[in-house]
Amino acid sequence: MQVLILGVGDAFTKRHFNTSALIEHGERYLLLDCPTPINRVLHDVTSINDWTVGLESIDDIIITHLHGDHCSGLEAFGFWRYFYSKSNNKSSLPCIHTSKLAADRLWERFAPAMDRANSDSPATLSDYYDLKILTPGAESQVCGLSIKCRFTGHPIPTVGLLISDGSATLGWSSDTPYDEEHIKWLSAADVIVHESGPAPSHTPIEDLNALPDELRAKMRLIHLADDFDYSSTDIKPLQEGEVIEF
Ligand SMILES: [Zn+2]
Repeated sequence: MQVLILGVGDAFTKRHFNTSALIEHGERYLLLDCPTPINRVLHDVTSINDWTVGLESIDDIIITHLHGDHCSGLEAFGFWRYFYSKSNNKSSLPCIHTSKLAADRLWERFAPAMDRANSDSPATLSDYYDLKILTPGAESQVCGLSIKCRFTGHPIPTVGLLISDGSATLGWSSDTPYDEEHIKWLSAADVIVHESGPAPSHTPIEDLNALPDELRAKMRLIHLADDFDYSSTDIKPLQEGEVIEF
């Protein structure tokens, strides 16, 4: 399993792409959140590393929650694949994996842009995507990886993730306030990618700085504000284009 960091910025960044990642496992690709402009993000960041992965190569997307900096790229991704499939005779759809609470409101969020309300053949989510539910307490298989999820205390339904290839595990906090139980759950991972930002919706860096040495040592930071003070912590921030190798 290799994890290519596509973006490290928060929702308001002017300097970075929004937080997302691309996981490669067994020559399959799993996109971890899908912000805009997803096509450019993939082009710019994968070309740094010679991954050359485009929208046609990604059949699975995990959406942690429905804030725009995590899911707004689903519109362009869905339209692009819709037309690509028609011109390439490809019948399979990309699959969105998300919690039931997010899934229940996903089409409500994208329908006004994607439902072709003025045409004779209105569209639904199933014209663009398959949908599979991630359930806390259950294990899902995606791209040959084991996925476990846990709800965070973010203001809308948001899941953190444990993603394992059987020998190594990635912990992904997703957007979350500081939550000892969440960090305890994530501590089963070999590498924990944790967000940091202002309370009450996010985790202040001071709270992460107070964690035990062994936890901080395997933690990396993401979803950072442009004015984040890198000297305020010994936890290493991730960079766009960086690959976490397991
Ligand atoms: Zn959020």
